[in-house]
Order: sequence, then structure tokens, then C-alpha cells
Amino acid sequence: MGGLEKFVSPGQKVLLKPDLMFDYPAGSTLTTDPEFIAATARLIAAAGAHVVVGDSPFVIHSSDGQFWRITGMAPVAKREAIELVSFEMAGSHAVAIDTRVYYISRVVMEADVVVSLPILKPDSDFGFAGGIRNMFGALPGFQKGRLYKKAANSRELARVLVDVFSAVRPALTIMQIPANDHPDPTVTGFVMASADAVALDSVITETLGMNPEKIHTTRLASDAGLGIGWIEAVRIEGEPLDALRSRLPLTSVRGRAAVLRGITRGMVEPYVWMKSRVDEELCDGCGACVSFCPTNALRFERGSSCPTIKADLCIHCWAGYTNCPVEAIHIEQSKWTRRLFCQSAANPV
Ligand code: SF4
Ligand code: SF4
Repeated sequence: MGGLEKFVSPGQKVLLKPDLMFDYPAGSTLTTDPEFIAATARLIAAAGAHVVVGDSPFVIHSSDGQFWRITGMAPVAKREAIELVSFEMAGSHAVAIDTRVYYISRVVMEADVVVSLPILKPDSDFGFAGGIRNMFGALPGFQKGRLYKKAANSRELARVLVDVFSAVRPALTIMQIPANDHPDPTVTGFVMASADAVALDSVITETLGMNPEKIHTTRLASDAGLGIGWIEAVRIEGEPLDALRSRLPLTSVRGRAAVLRGITRGMVEPYVWMKSRVDEELCDGCGACVSFCPTNALRFERGSSCPTIKADLCIHCWAGYTNCPVEAIHIEQSKWTRRLFCQSAANPV
């Protein structure tokens, strides 16, 4: 593919966007492995760029440090001197696509180059989570959960994912494919990489034995001209697909996806919610949260020294929460939210 120098230049700020959307611990093979992230960071730093690593989990943590500790990134980042960035704390830019508006983290929008590092894993709507879906994490906070719930079906959800992907467009996608649950313990994982995440997803789809044209995200992105969605037009270097196919944990990926679909698109969705509130006793009226709120949901009503939240305007980005210096904003989540999105018993929120 021409080496990393083809994608990054000296002095550029490069954001590595792994898949840490769920706070599974490192080694679970459901989040990008911190050592894989570190290895990529080393190569990009060697090309002269400044590397930062960031992602936004579905659920909020009592501190950013807790999220990085749970996912195993904290010790690796310390060892490698990698800067970890919070998508929530940075605030967001509003991006309009047709009549739809998305609030994308400033960290993502202001990076010179975005390198996406997804991990192949089950997905309840599309069978697998690939390169297109990984950019969903560019939306800070529980905005993701809100949009997920609002989408009536997989096709509508695919529209949202492709919208966000189109706004971010990583320069390079390197997918970690773990050998988890493979019946042969000697089989190792591998990586697939492409400058075209749509092409990468179509190759993964084919390798998994699915029809790329039936995967809504791949088809919509391809139709929108965001990449190549049909495998016949993709030039594949490295090992032939047939050799790789036998190294994929096929039944595991597809079987789990079916189970997850039943749970997440089922009757529990109305009970999946998060919301924030301002603690008037703690608030000192500094206004930091108001200045970070992208939708004007947080505002000082006339004569009040403590802001209130207009629920109908709130997109759950948690910018106010992460920027309040005295922790006067609290976030509440339902039991089902914790159950579906929070894998760590250590999350006290
Ligand atoms: S009140 Fe504003 S800053 Fe807070 S979560 Fe809602 S939209 Fe984001
Ligand atoms: S940032 Fe915190 S202390 Fe400042 S106005 Fe907002 S809630 Fe109050």
C-alpha cells in the first residue's frame, strides 16, 4: 500500500480511532487491542506525525481515566507516551447532511488525518462491525444511543452510520481480525487494511460468506460514492481470501450477531435511556457547561445563576458534564442502559 508515509506527513496531527465503544476489558476481542493501537502509533510517529488516540464509549464514566483503564489503554499509553483525548470534553461541531444534523467531536474534525482501527466483531444489525460503523464513535456521548433507538430499522440505522462516515472519511482503515473462538487454537488473527473503508467492508463481507449488496451500510456508502462496494472491483494484495476464510471465527461472529439483534432491537429499547441534570447546590454558575453545549440546551434562564437543561434540545453529548469544574452535572442511566452498554462492574455512574 506504499507505507504509512503515503498517508501521513511529518508534523501532522493523526487521530487513531480504535473501537472502544463498549468498555470491555483489553483482551476481550470485542475492543481493539491496545497493543495493536500502540504498534500503529509507533509506525505513525516514526513517519514524523503527532499521534493522539481517542474514542467515545456508549456510556459515560465517572472520569475519562476510568474509561482508559477499563479498556487497557491507560498503561499502554503511559508506556508509549501516547496522548489520549476525550471526545466529550473537546465539544463538537454540528455537521448537516441533507436535513439531518450530527454533532461530531472537535477532536475528529480538527485532526489532520484520521486512521480508523476497528476490530471485526458481531453487530446486531449488519452481522459484523466494520470500517464504516467504527466512525459512529465520532459522535460524543449517548448521542449514539439516541440515534440508535430512533432508527426504526437496520436500513435507517445504516443511513445514520453512513452519514457520520461521510463526514469523517478516515484516510486509512486497519482492521484487527482476532482468532477468538476459532476451533483450531494454532490459528492466529490477522489484519486487513485499505484506504477505502467501504471496499474493506465489502471484502470482509465476502470473506464472511455474506452478500455485500445485502449489507445496508456497504450498499448505501457505495451508492453515495464514498468507496467501492462490490468485491469484483477491489484489488486484493496479500493472502488470498480463501486462505483467510478458514482463519475467521465465522460461526462465532454470525451467531452472536443474531442473538444481539434480538436483544437490542427488541422490547427493551424504551427502557434504555440516559439523562443529565444540574445539581443546584454544587453549581457556582461559572457558565463553562453553557459555553460547551452545542445545541443551547444548557442555558441560564432569566434571573437564575444556575443553568437548566432543555430536554428536547439535549443530544446527550456530555460536553457540559465533562467540562464542569465542580462536578455539578450528574448523569443518570437506566438499568437496561447499564446492562446493554456497560460491561464493567467498575462503572459507578
Ligand atoms: S445539555 Fe448540552 S452539553 Fe449537556 S448533554 Fe445536552 S446537548 Fe450536550
Ligand atoms: S459548569 Fe458546572 S458549575 Fe459551571 S455553570 Fe455549569 S453546572 Fe454550574
